[in-house]
Amino acid sequence: MPDKPLAIVTRRLPASILDQIRVAAEMRLWDDDDPIPPATLREWVPGVQGLYCLLTDPVDAVLLDAAGSSLKVVSQMAVGYDNIDVAACTARGIPVGNTPGVLTETTADLAVALMLATARRLVEAAEYLKAGKWATWRPMELTGFDVSGSTVGIVGFGRIGKAVARRLRGFGCRILYHDPAPDPDAGSLGASFVNFDTLLKSSDFITLHVPLTDDTRGLIGQAELAQMKPEAVLINTSRGPVLDQDALLAALRAGQIAGAGLDVTTPEPLPADHPLLDLPNVVVLPHIGSASRATRLRMAQLAVDNLLAGLRGERLPHCANPEVYE
Ligand code: NAD
Repeated sequence: MPDKPLAIVTRRLPASILDQIRVAAEMRLWDDDDPIPPATLREWVPGVQGLYCLLTDPVDAVLLDAAGSSLKVVSQMAVGYDNIDVAACTARGIPVGNTPGVLTETTADLAVALMLATARRLVEAAEYLKAGKWATWRPMELTGFDVSGSTVGIVGFGRIGKAVARRLRGFGCRILYHDPAPDPDAGSLGASFVNFDTLLKSSDFITLHVPLTDDTRGLIGQAELAQMKPEAVLINTSRGPVLDQDALLAALRAGQIAGAGLDVTTPEPLPADHPLLDLPNVVVLPHIGSASRATRLRMAQLAVDNLLAGLRGERLPHCANPEVYE
């Protein structure tokens, strides 16, 4: 019986998930709810065959070199993988697994929830009541903006962007989208392809669903915010650096746009004394886009399936760099 391969798991996970890894591999587990320190991960990787990681773990060329030629698979428990130097993995012949699809609906729910929460001032209103400030029903008190009937601009019309469009049809929204190319599904979703400038100028809500890449870093900055309507609300459930947060803060302070709902920030965690959190028209969440119990378990399972396939030398069920097999 050959020795089991060695796999690192960088975070505490449900027992049902860890047990599956234990059956197939010698597991070195960072048994903690906080991230493994990068220096510890670097100490652990030499000679390892598998790495099961999270978006909080930088996986760069230095780490890959420390792991050496034994490393057969990197499996990330997320659909986004901007923490991983995928090109460096490909250059070393290492497939990178991710978890697309299983979190699409849950993340789209959250994007729409953030639109409603920001536009209808839900957090502010709940705090107002808790603080004992609610004296009576007043005609114009805590009034916000309607999502129903609004024009929504979706930036990045992939899995999650389309799932947001499907939901917003029920709100009677006019849906615009921008992506590098028009999408064949758009007609059936009632969405119109527009250029980026038109989307910025025409939308009441702009919601970001692009991956973080060199092209999308800072996609929304001062110039883009300046094109948006003063009544516009910006929603970001993609990745923090897609948005220039300092430019957003300045635009909100200047009343250039009406509000922002952010599930992702720069940095994460956002410090509790960050000036964005002082603004009543901003709702910030701690990166909970995919955080339903069922979805997190599906993500963990898919990441196990990718890890174990990689350890067996089989093609990963979901591979972010399929060119590695060419
Ligand atoms: P996807 O690959 O299906 O869709 C991304 C879309 O963005 C694609 O259609 C792509 O063509 C488009 N795109 C790329 N560059 C663009 C650009 N410059 N301008 C316009 N469009 C561009 O991915 P997905 O499954 O929909 O996930 C999207 C992203 O959402 C992930 O990469 C991840 O970073 C983020 N995400 C966040 C959470 C969360 O918890 N907040 C959860 C899931 C995913």
